[in-house]
Amino acid sequence: MNYPFAAVGIVHSPYKEKFGIPRQPSLAPAADVSVELLPPYNHPDTVRGLEAFSHVWISFVFHQTANRGWQALVRPPRLGGNAKVGVFASRSTHRPNPLGLSLVELRGIDLSDGVRLQLAGADLLDGTPVLDIKPYIPFVEARPEALGGFVDGPPPSLHIVWSEQALQQLAALPAPPAALPQLIEQVLAQDPRPAYQDDPQRVYGVRLYDYNIRFRVADAHAHVLEIQLAAPN
Ligand code: SAH
Repeated sequence: MNYPFAAVGIVHSPYKEKFGIPRQPSLAPAADVSVELLPPYNHPDTVRGLEAFSHVWISFVFHQTANRGWQALVRPPRLGGNAKVGVFASRSTHRPNPLGLSLVELRGIDLSDGVRLQLAGADLLDGTPVLDIKPYIPFVEARPEALGGFVDGPPPSLHIVWSEQALQQLAALPAPPAALPQLIEQVLAQDPRPAYQDDPQRVYGVRLYDYNIRFRVADAHAHVLEIQLAAPN
């Protein structure tokens, strides 16, 4: 059976490409993400009362990878990229139905022009179609006794070292987004590299807003090498 769904909103996010996006929400709280509701849902009535909730569930489409299919077994990055678990035992983006679910902090609701939900620390790509929004109900959904399987506890994080060059480039940016340095640190601390790569010389680039952040990782330290202006998309 098919159930056609239409997006109720669209994501605006500093994450312009998949690489570098934290693997779950809340890991980079400096990420300033918003969901713009689309007509006919962009009416204040649809969110009346939502401002009293601190967190919301966002259901969305993994639109950028939606056509890549799925497999019964996946290799979660948390298991080092070697061990396999079932797709339904994972939060893999490659699923029979490419649906994502993120619990995110709701910082505010902007009703000045349509409806825009301001979120903190969402793991969402710019342009992600949002299918649904629901308030998070702590007395039902907060389960501290729950077992976390192979993801029990936060991942280890890297220390950040800024190069002189990167600091100078940061200081020279004409109008940097608020909290850009914090976002860079939080994103790199997550170690965005693929699980099987550990080459201390290899230079990676992660795109945040209109900037390309070049870095490398050695001995549990992420070295911020350069901040370059990327071509806007
Ligand atoms: N919290 C969600 C997502 C977990 S996977 C859930 O559990 O369902 C997180 C990854 O989703 C991120 O690392 C990012 O690379 C990827 N992602 C985010 N938005 C996406 C999109 N629109 N299309 C494809 N992948 C996306």
